[in-house]
Amino acid sequence: MAKREKKYCIWCGGETKNPPTLISKIPLIDLMEEHIDTFGRERILDDYYEGEIQAPPQIRAELYAYLDLLNDVKDRIICGSCLEEELKNNDKYYSPLIQDDEDLINFINGLVDKDDNNVGK
Ligand SMILES: [Zn+2]
Repeated sequence: MAKREKKYCIWCGGETKNPPTLISKIPLIDLMEEHIDTFGRERILDDYYEGEIQAPPQIRAELYAYLDLLNDVKDRIICGSCLEEELKNNDKYYSPLIQDDEDLINFINGLVDKDDNNVGK
């Protein structure tokens, strides 16, 4: 009588049937993305990957923490609505990375279309 283990979205905690997906530890945060724009997106991201962000101390620490979490990408459970929201924000702040990858787009659409309300039925 093995029950199927319930799965929960790592971001919102909602139940979902989605399989693990390669995703960051946290979603994109508008406030942080606006900070990045304020200091110059290209410069901040280049500096980050090269090891030293040039920004006032307080925001510098926040940017490191934020970007470290965003770059912590591995297989995680995420629900359809969080994924959908994330794809919108990704297009808003970053160039769409996956627009030419039909297989990946179909895979993501498959996840987003799943009905999370019927979990466990
Ligand atoms: Zn979620």
